[in-house]
Amino acid sequence: METKKYFLDDASLPEAWYNLAADLPEALPPVLHPGTGEPVTPEDLGPLFPPALIEQEMSTERWIPIPEEVRELLLQWRCTPLYRARRLEKALDTPAKIYYKYEGVSPSGSHKPNTAVPQAYYNREAGIRKITTETGAGQWGSSLALACSFFGIECLVYMVKVSFNQKPYRRAFMESFEAKCIASPSTTTAAGRAILEKDPDCSGSLGMAISEAVEVAAQNDDTCYCLGSVLNHVLLHQTVIGQESMQQMEMAGEDPDVIVGCTGGGSNFAGIAFPYMGRGLRGGKMPRIVAVEPSACPTLTKGRHAYDYGDTAHLTPLVKMHTLGSTFVPPGFHSGGLRYHGMAPLVSHAVKLGLAEPTSYNQLETFAAGLQFAQSEGILPAPEANHAVVGAIREAERCREEGKAETILFNLCGHGHFDMQAYMDYHDGKLRDYDYPEEEIAMALAGLPGVNG
Ligand SMILES: *Cc1c(COP(=O)(O)O)cnc(C)c1O
Repeated sequence: METKKYFLDDASLPEAWYNLAADLPEALPPVLHPGTGEPVTPEDLGPLFPPALIEQEMSTERWIPIPEEVRELLLQWRCTPLYRARRLEKALDTPAKIYYKYEGVSPSGSHKPNTAVPQAYYNREAGIRKITTETGAGQWGSSLALACSFFGIECLVYMVKVSFNQKPYRRAFMESFEAKCIASPSTTTAAGRAILEKDPDCSGSLGMAISEAVEVAAQNDDTCYCLGSVLNHVLLHQTVIGQESMQQMEMAGEDPDVIVGCTGGGSNFAGIAFPYMGRGLRGGKMPRIVAVEPSACPTLTKGRHAYDYGDTAHLTPLVKMHTLGSTFVPPGFHSGGLRYHGMAPLVSHAVKLGLAEPTSYNQLETFAAGLQFAQSEGILPAPEANHAVVGAIREAERCREEGKAETILFNLCGHGHFDMQAYMDYHDGKLRDYDYPEEEIAMALAGLPGVNG
C-alpha cells in the first residue's frame, strides 16, 4: 500500500517559532509613525498591543520559544496532517509529487487559531480584559473568539458588512464563544460614522473594519487590538506550519522543489514558506516559492512597494509593503480573506529580494481547481485555499509538459464548509471574473502618503 498521510505525535509540535528577520540579507524597512514620519518606538505601539507582542514584532532573534500554556492549547488540534495528493497526481497525469499540509482540522477550520491563541495569551498575561478586531470572511473573528474564550477575555469583532450579511453562520460561531459581532461600517465609532455619512449603503472593507477596531482599542485602557495577518508577529506564529511540514516531508523521504501558498495578508503563506526560506538563506536547499493572489486584488503582482497605512481612516502606523492604496475597496469576489489592499511587509520584502514569485488567478479558474481537488482528494477547500490549489495544479501541469518529477508542497489553509454560498453561486453560474480594477487602483495609489517622496 502506498503511503497517503503523515502524522506527527504531540511531542513533535515545535517548541519555538521561526523568525525570518534573523536571516534576511537586507533588514526590513522600519515601521514609521504616521505623525512624525520617524521609526515607531515600542511606546508608540503600547496603546494597541501588549509588550510581548511588540517585542516579537521588532525582534531579530531567530527562534522565539512558544510558552507551554500556548503549546498545550495548540495541541487541541496540532500537529496537523500532511497528505500526498496521489489521486490528484493521477488525475493530472503528472510525474510531479504533490503534497499538501492541511490546516482545516483546526476548531475554526483554518490556520488562523495558530496566532489567535498566542495573541490572546499575551494579552491575558498583560492584564487586558477586552480585545477588538476586524474580520472579513469571518475566519479570523471565529478564531479570535475561540481563543479569547479559552483565556476569559471579552472579544469585539467588526465584520465587513457584505460578509456579515453573506455569512450568518460565521456570526453564530463567534457568538457561540461569547464574542460580540458588529457589521462594519457601524455607528459605534467615529471612523464608521464618517464613512456612513458619505455613503450610507457602504458594504465595508477590511481597511474600514480595522479603523473601527483600532479606534475602540486606542480609546480604552483595558482594551487591546489584534490583527489576524500582515504583522510580523502573526507571520511568526504561523511558522509552526512549515516546521511541522519539514518533519513530515522528511518522513516521506522528500524535500520540496516548489512551495505554493495563497496570499491575502500573507500569514499562511509565510507559515509554510518562511522556515524553508530561512533554511535556504542559511546555505541549505532553497525551493522555488510561489505566492498566489486573486487577479481582482493583485497586491503583489500589480501593487506598489511603498509606505502606506493599514487602514482606511489612517489610524495605523505606516509600513512598507506592496499596496493597492489604503482607500482601495476590492470587488466583492468570494475569497473574503484575500480582499486586503496591502501585504505583510515581510512577504513584500521577500518578493522584492527575489525570494518568492507572485502570481495571480481569476475567480472562476480557482473554483474549477478547487473542485478538481475536492473530487480527487475529498476535501472541499476554502475559496482562499483554492488559489493555492490552482497554483499547485499549474506547477504539476508544467512538470508534465517538461517531463520533470518535481516535488510540490502547498498549504491547504482551510476547508470551505462555511463558504457553501460561494459554491452554490459557482454551481448556479452566478460567479464571474472581475476585471482588474485599474482606475480604482490608480486613484487609491495617487493618495499614498507623502513619506514616499
Ligand atoms: C484569512 C485567510 C486567508 C488569508 O490570510 P493570510 O494571512 O494571507 O493567510 C487565507 N485562507 C484562509 C482559509 C483564511 O481564513
